[in-house]
Amino acid sequence: MPYQVTLLPGDGIGPEVAQATQRAVNATGVPIDWDCHELSSKALEAAGEQLPQHVLDSLERTRVGLKGPVTTPIAGGHQSVNVQLRKRLGLFANFRPVRSFAGVKTRYSDVHIDIVMFRENTEDLYSGLEHEVVTDVVTSLKVITRAASLRIAQYAFDYARRHQRRKIHAIHKANIMKLGDGLFLRCCREVAKEYPEIAYKEMIVDNTAMQLVMRPETFDVLLMPNLYGDIVSDLVAGLVGGLGIVPGANFGERHAVFEAVHGSAPDIAGKGVANPTALMQSAALMLSHLNEEGAARRLQSAIEWVYAEGRHLTPDVGGQATTTEFTDAVVHQVEKGKQAAGGPLPGIS
Ligand code: NAD
Repeated sequence: MPYQVTLLPGDGIGPEVAQATQRAVNATGVPIDWDCHELSSKALEAAGEQLPQHVLDSLERTRVGLKGPVTTPIAGGHQSVNVQLRKRLGLFANFRPVRSFAGVKTRYSDVHIDIVMFRENTEDLYSGLEHEVVTDVVTSLKVITRAASLRIAQYAFDYARRHQRRKIHAIHKANIMKLGDGLFLRCCREVAKEYPEIAYKEMIVDNTAMQLVMRPETFDVLLMPNLYGDIVSDLVAGLVGGLGIVPGANFGERHAVFEAVHGSAPDIAGKGVANPTALMQSAALMLSHLNEEGAARRLQSAIEWVYAEGRHLTPDVGGQATTTEFTDAVVHQVEKGKQAAGGPLPGIS
């Protein structure tokens, strides 16, 4: 029986990287029935700015999604479909593993970076509750609840225990937002007590930004509310070579949606140079979630082999290859089943 997976290519570079990823996953030989649905800024406007019901129905049926980025208009227009999707499906845990990548030259090439980020995905300033009190005075509601904070903290500590991670930093700004971030921290502390083998630390978000740039190797697991998680993820991606390579996943009680950290990259959309590595690595996480561990490793190893060889890389990571050339190289390696030197998959289960 093939697996049922909802494929949402998205817009901007989304369809380019989604098609590349679909080819790479298909090359593993794992039988997948892709249920493809358009989810783009344009489609949203046509559907009256609501998350289309057919997308929800498909995910309700398959429980597993592979999603490209979707453009969100700036300072106006429809609400973020990403935020809507995460809320509607209760995808409360955003998981983003970031590791140094052999073959990508960065300022940190001599430093071993291996950081797993957990971002609360359903509340905080992403509540979408904004209000113009009087002309030119706006309030945006930051919502932090005990239930959601405990849930993400529990998820991160459980993960750390299962994967022998040694240290968790809870990231906050509770010196200023004493109530909201204070509640988040109290929940993290409460959960941390149940995991005495994991060192629990707290760090103010601005200091975290500086420490990550100065000493990224000292971090292990980051546990963050929604907004800090969003910002810090891009910073950490920048340490290892940029958004083109960093994967991600959103987990709820019943659903899992795998997507890269990056957005729709309008500056390079349609040019054929988008790097599909981030979505391909997200797909490797998806295969692992489907208990297709062998295929996940083959895909991951093939990607790492192509990077180590270095002849078919896209411009964002210092190469000259097109999306298609890079994908051809990965597909070829998947088919050959060639093993690359490289660490194990960042576990997800
Ligand atoms: P972005 O991630 O789209 O791009 C930031 C920079 O990284 C750009 O220079 C881009 O060219 C580069 N980049 C990103 N992905 C790349 C890839 N795969 N290969 C090569 N280069 C890549 O961020 P942005 O420009 O701030 O946002 C653009 C749009 O994407 C906005 O509408 C935003 O709301 C949306 N967005 C969507 C998601 C999502 O769907 N999950 C996430 C983030 C941003």
